[in-house]
This record gives sequence, C-alpha cells and structure tokens, in this order.
Amino acid sequence: MQYHTATSYENAVELAEAAQGTIRFLAGGTDVLVQLRAEIVTPDVLIDIKQIPGAADIQCLADGSWQIGAAVSGAQLDEHGTLKANWPGVVEAMNLIGSTQVQGRATLTGNLCNGSPAADSVPAMLAANASVTIIGPDGQRQVPVKDIPSGPGKTTLKSGEVIASVNLPAQSASGADAYLRFIPRTEMDIAVVGCAVSLELDGPKIAKARVAIGAVAPTVRLVESAAEGLIGSTLDDAALAALASAVRDACDPINDKRGTIEYRTHVAGVLAQRAAKIAYQRARSKS
Ligand SMILES: Cc1cc2nc3c(=O)[nH]c(=O)nc-3n(C[C@H](O)[C@H](O)[C@H](O)COP(=O)(O)OP(=O)(O)OC[C@H]3O[C@@H](n4cnc5c(N)ncnc54)[C@H](O)[C@@H]3O)c2cc1C
Repeated sequence: MQYHTATSYENAVELAEAAQGTIRFLAGGTDVLVQLRAEIVTPDVLIDIKQIPGAADIQCLADGSWQIGAAVSGAQLDEHGTLKANWPGVVEAMNLIGSTQVQGRATLTGNLCNGSPAADSVPAMLAANASVTIIGPDGQRQVPVKDIPSGPGKTTLKSGEVIASVNLPAQSASGADAYLRFIPRTEMDIAVVGCAVSLELDGPKIAKARVAIGAVAPTVRLVESAAEGLIGSTLDDAALAALASAVRDACDPINDKRGTIEYRTHVAGVLAQRAAKIAYQRARSKS
C-alpha cells in the first residue's frame, strides 16, 4: 500500500490521478481505517489530506457564510461557539457520531463521502442547504450536498475529485436548525432514523423550511413536500400532522432487525415533528 501526504488539494488530485487500484482519501480515518482493519476495503493508495494548509480551518466569510475545511473534526465544530450558535443542528448531528475519541478525528466530509444512508451529519447539511467545494482534474466546482450521495456507499464524485470544504450559508437572524436521530441504545450506534429541520421565521410564521431524512431510504433525502407544508404556519397541530405525513410518504426504508419498514416510517414522522419543534423554538428565542 502506498501512503501519500498531500501538500495541496491540487496535489491530492494529481496523486489520485496517478494512482493505480483502490484509492481512499484519508481525513479522520474513522471509516477508512475501520474498513481496512475489517478487510472490507483495502486501499492500494491512501492520500492523507490533513496536512493541506487550511484543511483544518473553520472560517466565517464576510457575508456570514461558513467554510469548513475538509479535515475539521467534530470536536472542533463543537468548540466553535459562533458556528454552533448559527447552525446548532449541523453541529449536534456531527457530535452524535461515535465517542470522544472518534469526535477528535471524524469529519463532515468523511461522513458525506463514506456514503452511508444513515450518516448523521448529512441530513443536517441538506437541511442547512450546505454545498461542497470540489477540486478535480477539470478544476473547481461547487455542488449542493444534496447532490453528492447516490446510493449506499456511493457518491457522485468523479474519479480523482477531492472535497476541499463544506460551505454553510449565512444563517438568517430569524433562522435555526435541529437534528434528531433514533437509536436503540443511548450512544455509539447507527441511526435507525434521522431527521433534520431548518426554519426561517417571519414573526411567528415559518417563512422558509427545509426537511431532510436519513436511514430511511438508499440515500439521505431532502423532503420538499414536507417543507412546503410548514411554510406560512406557526407550527400548529395541522402543520405538524402534515409534516409527519409528508415525511412518512418520502420514506423507503429497509426491513431489518434494527427496525421494520413500518417502524422506521412511523418514527421518521415523530422525529420530524420533534426536530421541527426544536428548530422553531430556537428560531423564536432569537427574536
Ligand atoms: C466507533 C465509531 C462510531 C461511529 N459512529 C457513527 C455515528 O454515530 N454516525 C455516523 O454517521 N457515523 C459514525 N461513524 C462513522 C464515521 O466516524 C463517520 O462517517 C465520520 O464522519 C467519517 O469521517 P472521517 O473524516 O473519519 O472519514 P475517513 O474515514 O477519513 O473517510 C471516509 C470516506 O470519505 C472519503 N473522503 C474523506 N475525505 C474526503 C475528501 N476530502 N474528499 C473526497 N473524499 C473524501 C474517503 O476516501 C473515505 O471513502 C462511526 C465510526 C466509528 C469508528
């Protein structure tokens, strides 16, 4: 196995293009190393991106948007007070991943690129309308996070492409988000269902909404019909019932020992209602 330490994203792309066999980028390694040790994926070439200048930086840009480097860990997100106040749902989703040790390594980018339909941070990034900056053989492109997952363990990234950053829009003065997941244990488990809601208010009324679900379909899904039903409401009982119903309609889960199709579908509606209430409360408390 070859191990390279990339000095820039362009260098990471060159290394990936020149590589033969199975390639993996190494961010936190909490998926790559587990898969390697379990002999699920044995890369021929590992390209470490952690030493790339800026990869471990969190930046708030002049317009209030956020640029989170590809090697920023969950622990770093949690320690960043302003980011956490702006996007509490994204940070809480990332912080559900693993243990304290895992938090010190795991990244948003790795969570996204591993392609798990149950990845915790991905619904939160979708609800937040996040995008990623991709560097590849054909240059740089900006892609919404919702267009990256393409199936279990699969992404739309092209050969040789590497993500340089996750970009979160500026949070509105009347906006907030929330993420909830259900697991049978209290921690260290994979989501049976996950749901993220991001809201922007106009007084007590919801002006904008985004709802995303995880672990209930082959990829994380943005549920536009669920968001549409919330707009113009004050999150009253009718809006909550419509939300649960739209989310359940969007579910297409597997049936396994951790949850039947009926159970996962039911829980998705419950979590959507609870996450919406938390996001609404957080947004209201800003006014
Ligand atoms: C004990 C334990 C508990 C866990 N619990 C959870 C959990 O509760 N919820 C959850 O969602 N996950 C969980 N995970 C999985 C894992 O921690 C997360 O998916 C994590 O976010 C992966 O990030 P990473 O930086 O470690 O990725 P890595 O392992 O470094 O990479 C993962 C994948 O992303 C690709 N990749 C990494 N960086 C880039 C880049 N910049 N551009 C393109 N591709 C890239 C790699 O090639 C690889 O395919 C757990 C893992 C462990 C070991």
